[in-house]
Amino acid sequence: MLIDQFGRKHTYLRISLTDACNMRCSYCMPLSSYHGTKSNKLMTADEIFELASIFVQNGITKIRLTGGEPLLRKDFDTILKKLATLPVNIGITTNGLLLDKHFENLVKHNVKHINISLDSLDAEEFKRITHTGQLEKIMLHISHLLTLNMIVKINLVMLKNINEHAIIDFVKWTEKHPIDVRFIEFMPFEKNDWNKEKVLGYETVLNTLAEQFDILKIEDETNSTSRNYKVKGFKGNFGFITTVTNPFCESCNRLRLTADGKLRNCLFAKNETDLLTPLRNGENILELIQQNVLSKAAALGGMNDLHSNSDRSMIQIGG
Ligand code: SAM
Ligand code: SF4
Repeated sequence: MLIDQFGRKHTYLRISLTDACNMRCSYCMPLSSYHGTKSNKLMTADEIFELASIFVQNGITKIRLTGGEPLLRKDFDTILKKLATLPVNIGITTNGLLLDKHFENLVKHNVKHINISLDSLDAEEFKRITHTGQLEKIMLHISHLLTLNMIVKINLVMLKNINEHAIIDFVKWTEKHPIDVRFIEFMPFEKNDWNKEKVLGYETVLNTLAEQFDILKIEDETNSTSRNYKVKGFKGNFGFITTVTNPFCESCNRLRLTADGKLRNCLFAKNETDLLTPLRNGENILELIQQNVLSKAAALGGMNDLHSNSDRSMIQIGG
């Protein structure tokens, strides 16, 4: 098992397949000139499989493929096919634009958990936030996922004065659909123009929602990063990822592998461990992983308080 100095067992690995994206969400990828890392610096499908196998042999039971936009990888199907041979639960976090090309393979490889980023249900507003997002197309893809009985979670980053009114629309959406909407507090990353005043905290939002809906607290899964609720009688749920106002570091079971093969033990970690170069040189990877896990800080990558000084953007880390 990958256990850190605070006794936290790490069973969940998020693998970024690329740091390129076909959308430009203001909170994530503000650098319009950023086109991602050159492909020879990215992990190949075989290298992803080799590294993932080492993690799975050492206690990882859940892998989520993310990015950047993971479905931009031309060899996405090959990667999925290889990973599906491991005894691990696989999920995907995607902006949903390219999902239609992958429905068949997702079903074939038993991928049941799909998280989709969606920051507004209004097409104009969605375009303003994402620049290239096409709401109608993504909504069709979500409907199709539901007909395939996939477990769909929607991720919305709460942006003060930008999409805060949309939160109510999303809660209403859970009335007739078995979706799980997660409202995420805006987090600081490189050059995403973050400051504390822009953060819409979960308690404020929950209080506003409680004025309009009959809200019930529901159980949070072990190691869940979200505080979950539902409106009485509604089919779906909603929850809050409260990294800024109420971090959940004490139960963290996550590790992250960047698209260029660096291991990060926290979104806000100051250091990362290169696994790809040693893998290419035939060195012992497990030892490097164990050292990295042991160096994990108690909370927020060792920061006392969140501030905007991360050395990598969210898209480079892998969300
Ligand atoms: N492209 C995929 C997507 O959008 O779902 C996967 C990568 S994206 C970086 C993963 C998640 O990170 C998304 O749900 C996105 O909303 C979230 N995210 C990005 N920047 C964020 C920020 N500054 N604060 C909070 N969440 C953020
Ligand atoms: Fe792309 Fe996802 Fe970041 Fe939006 S949140 S820019 S879709 S990686």
